[in-house]
Amino acid sequence: MPDLLWNVRLVDGTGARPRDGCLVRVEDGRIAEVAAATGPAPPGALDVQGRTVLPGLIDAHCHLSSDTSRSPGFGPPAELHGEEPRARALGHYVLANAARVMLAAGITAVRDVGSYDDEAIVLRQAVELGLADGPRITSCGRIISATAPGGAIFGTMYREADGPWEMRKAVREQLRRGAGFVKVMATGARSVALEDPEPAQLTREELEAVVDEAHRLGVRVAAHAEGLEGARLAVEAGVDTVEHGLSLHRKPALLGRMAEQGIVLVPTLTTFHDLAERFADHFPVALVEQAKRQREEAYATLVAARSAGVVLAMGHDSGPPGDNLVELVRMVDGGLSSLEGIAAATSGAARALGREDLGRIAPGALGDLLVVDGDPAADARLLADPRRIDMVMLGGRVVDRDLRSLTGFDDGGPSPCATGLAARAVSAR
Ligand SMILES: [Zn+2]
Repeated sequence: MPDLLWNVRLVDGTGARPRDGCLVRVEDGRIAEVAAATGPAPPGALDVQGRTVLPGLIDAHCHLSSDTSRSPGFGPPAELHGEEPRARALGHYVLANAARVMLAAGITAVRDVGSYDDEAIVLRQAVELGLADGPRITSCGRIISATAPGGAIFGTMYREADGPWEMRKAVREQLRRGAGFVKVMATGARSVALEDPEPAQLTREELEAVVDEAHRLGVRVAAHAEGLEGARLAVEAGVDTVEHGLSLHRKPALLGRMAEQGIVLVPTLTTFHDLAERFADHFPVALVEQAKRQREEAYATLVAARSAGVVLAMGHDSGPPGDNLVELVRMVDGGLSSLEGIAAATSGAARALGREDLGRIAPGALGDLLVVDGDPAADARLLADPRRIDMVMLGGRVVDRDLRSLTGFDDGGPSPCATGLAARAVSAR
């Protein structure tokens, strides 16, 4: 196991310019030293010959799920009528595979923002216990929502609650389940026909109760907010991250306040492309049309948030697992520089998770890093092709990666969506 990387081009994740000729030393799973590498590589060092080293990538908005219906190319073949019925427990193998594939793609930490039947918490346990290879996982448990039409669709992904004391109880329940933070629906969801995502879904009193209870107990709050009023209430209540937040470009002062308070924005551009384009035939026409408008707003907010100085975090909110970097491609296409995009996928996403020890290459940070072939500082979009990632290190250990299996159960190589976007990016240079 190499513990000294030599002749490194360092992209530290903070957005700082790359530094050539560095060494990175890892000790006991943490980064112990970052310095200039002078002279020949000492014995035992891994000479990466000027390749780029950057922090492991972090997806700050994912839904870990054994349901692969919107993860084309990933998971078992569709079940046919008359076939042997499939055991429910097979889902855990799907989840383990998802975790392995994400890690192989360079994702070393994920924040699960809602899963069915506590699947994300089970997967977190499996990874922590060494039963499955995967990124570091934190999950919100169930999403706290007002009694709402979405509750009838999302079932066990939701915990419906009304009134401040029920909100507090719902927060406590998630901690009992093993949640690492709390997620709350400040507005309705774009994917639910009976919900209007524009008005706030919770009252100020309810949102303040969620935030107060979570913070009092030492966990952070992520707020799903599409319309402006819900986003405003969430920011005023002091949530830690705003998910989607597409309407924020309409109110620059609110973005200024987020920047001041260190509230992170997770724009999730991909989810709007999914609903407006990729999976348009899975949704009612009215929702598809709404998503097209929202897609434009989400890009406007990305640019406005960047100029307001809001910390941005990459969150894919889509599938298949391993394609997470498609979101980074979109953030760069949408106007971020490559270094800003990398910061969103590393230190910015780590801020969303509330983890100072992730997302940067600096002494004391955990030894989660990538060695990359090519120049991601010049074009971060190449990171969406896992074949450009030469090495993944998690907690100081080199990850054993099988790139042939990056589409999960299918042996067709990395996903066509991710590699197509990465190839387009590289040929556009
Ligand atoms: Zn989501």
